[in-house]
Amino acid sequence: MLLIKRIESCRQYSSTVLSSILKSKKTSILPKHPSKGHANHVCEPAVTRFAPSPTGMLHLGSLRTALYNYLLAKKTDGKFILRIEDTDRSRLKDGAMDNIYNSLKWCNLKWDEGPYLQSERTDIYRKHINHLIETGRAYRCFCTKERLDDLRQSALRLVPPTNVSYDRHCAHLSEGEIKSKLDQGIPFTVRFKAPEKYPPFEDLLHGKIDLQPQQNPSDIRYDDPILMKSDNYPTYHLANVIDDHDMKISHVIRGEEWLPSTPKHIALYEAFGWKPPKFTHLPLLTTTEDKKLSKRRNDMSVMSLKEQGILPEALVNFSVLFGWSPPRELASKNHECFTLQEFENLFDLDSLTKGNAKVDMKKLWFFNKHFLGKKLEDPTFIDAVLPTIVKTIRDKYENVTELEEKVKTILIENGKVLSNINEFDTVFYYFFEKPNFESNEQSQEFLSKYDNKVASTILQYTRSILSEGSLTKDLVNDLSSKFNVPKKTIFQTLRFALAGSHPGAAVPVLFKVLGVSEAQERIANAIQILEHSL
Ligand code: GLU
Repeated sequence: MLLIKRIESCRQYSSTVLSSILKSKKTSILPKHPSKGHANHVCEPAVTRFAPSPTGMLHLGSLRTALYNYLLAKKTDGKFILRIEDTDRSRLKDGAMDNIYNSLKWCNLKWDEGPYLQSERTDIYRKHINHLIETGRAYRCFCTKERLDDLRQSALRLVPPTNVSYDRHCAHLSEGEIKSKLDQGIPFTVRFKAPEKYPPFEDLLHGKIDLQPQQNPSDIRYDDPILMKSDNYPTYHLANVIDDHDMKISHVIRGEEWLPSTPKHIALYEAFGWKPPKFTHLPLLTTTEDKKLSKRRNDMSVMSLKEQGILPEALVNFSVLFGWSPPRELASKNHECFTLQEFENLFDLDSLTKGNAKVDMKKLWFFNKHFLGKKLEDPTFIDAVLPTIVKTIRDKYENVTELEEKVKTILIENGKVLSNINEFDTVFYYFFEKPNFESNEQSQEFLSKYDNKVASTILQYTRSILSEGSLTKDLVNDLSSKFNVPKKTIFQTLRFALAGSHPGAAVPVLFKVLGVSEAQERIANAIQILEHSL
């Protein structure tokens, strides 16, 4: 048996300490049979669950957890269960539950069973806690808050200090004492009588893990986690273990922050005489600067990313790749772009990666551009986004006619340059307002780089022959040979006049959308500028 590391107190683990344990395991003490190859290949149908607490908006990290559980269930023809862990009543947030449902639905993650609400299952927990009390594996604790605070303070003064502070006072109460306290109605919690040593456990990603609370020989304290609070609601540890057993969960995939809880859970399974599920703890999500990605960052919640213009397909693609890699050849062939359905066939626990996953928003926008481009091939998508874009343009720019037709044409012809549909009005602004040659860098560059006399002559001639839809290949060829300049110069000159040299839209699209009279006006303005700067 491999003993990895002893740390002061399970409850004291900060995420940084944990990642350093996991990193050190990776480099030195990791078992010789890491999870590469087919060690964790799951053939049996896996029963998985996503078990969020409705304490805030569903963010990227939770979405990744949900996705991996969903994908493992799909890949193995198993079952994906949604369970809401809402027993910590003081931390509930209004709207959080709906936010969980809406975020999952929006990402197209359908659960096969649930949602189960733990707050509706309290009878089940009560029955099980009574069993633990009867078998001596748990006991009622009547200690006052003041007494517990004192114990906590004194534990912190120990050398080395520890968060494991309870002295097991109430574990030694006689039957009579307990009865009398119950009769007096003194509030109590129920504590687990933690084993002297927590059994080590196997994590499918990290190998064998042995986490023990520190005990100071001169002043022994006990971990004895609370299982039932004085409000009669179970704590996370109890409800989580009972439900995972009850719902026949075969694989628990969750964030690394739950690693310190796992020894307690394994001990609880043992106390109940149940077989624990298989555990996989996922590495942290970090920013590109390697800082922990805070759950409190509201701009990283699924619904806020939706508001920012992110598509569900892009978000799913982005999130699955935080710590899981597809087969290399396939990934490079597809530029890492995959659909949920493709992931359902590809996913496996063997290809999880151990390092912290960096959240690089540039990559999210890359995926967004990819999926937006695909969606724009679908007329129903265009019809769906049209009204919002039209309204924005109408509110922002004056005197734009035939707006619907114009927006549609731009989307069909040039929409693929967009990374974000919400940016239509800014990216394509030059369709809706005349170029400002003076303040525009690209126009200035054109003016200084090209022969203004030739440009002006080309434009004057174009203006004289301009009629609707007349920018054909032939016209460009004609202009090019007539003025003896490369075709590129023709295009650049026209782009200067029509869009202030703004890149993006093809020149024929500019003509088509602007229409003859607007194009003529813009050309006339451009000629003036060119003449002026001669
Ligand atoms: N309720 C926990 C959470 O909010 C679930 C942890 C677990 O998956 O066991 O993430």
